[in-house]
Amino acid sequence: MITKVKTGQTNSYLVHTPDGYILVDTGTANQTRKVERALNNAGAGIEEIKLIIVTHAHYDHVGSLQEIKIKSGASVLVHEKEKGLLQAGKTDFPAGTFFMTKLLASAGNSFMQGKFNPVDADITITDKYSLQDFGIDGELIHTPGHTEGSISVLIEGEHLICGDTFFNVLPNSVYPLFANDQAQLLETWKKIEQLNYKTFYPGHGTIFNRQKFLKTLKRKKD
Ligand SMILES: [Zn+2]
Ligand SMILES: [Zn+2]
Repeated sequence: MITKVKTGQTNSYLVHTPDGYILVDTGTANQTRKVERALNNAGAGIEEIKLIIVTHAHYDHVGSLQEIKIKSGASVLVHEKEKGLLQAGKTDFPAGTFFMTKLLASAGNSFMQGKFNPVDADITITDKYSLQDFGIDGELIHTPGHTEGSISVLIEGEHLICGDTFFNVLPNSVYPLFANDQAQLLETWKKIEQLNYKTFYPGHGTIFNRQKFLKTLKRKKD
């Protein structure tokens, strides 16, 4: 039901519903063909995407958003705190959380400036949003920390498509390499701990299980 699509350095996810597809994130620029190929492999076309969920407005998640929106005709959903960034087509590089990524973040802000083609969102949310109109047991929750308007997608009470609230690129940690507000992020992690999600689908790195999340959280609390 959930298909991972590698879109540049980022993971996008296609969620199959009785009413077409939901696409979560779109990767960096020029990734539209990869999304189309994944749909074609499932016997579908790009016009079967009905909704595009933006977990947050970083250039590596919304780089192909404008093109996919135009080609598919899908509605775009974003948290209200990121709507203006989508319209502006630019977001600052977030703060690093490790020594090396702090250096990278300051370099990123000087050189890359996180530009992308601007998009007007069709749906903005503040907290919970149900996906039952698509015929699935799914809902969106606000998971701030990496950015203020970061959101995650819960599917069937077991699967969490979490954007950059987690990175799974290190052997013993799923802590994001970048976050604007680490205290807020820890609160979000504690909220997720209360829920019984088994499988996590991060914006970067491979899909991982609850055990790896709990191990990283324990170290962060100590
Ligand atoms: Zn990000
Ligand atoms: Zn990212």
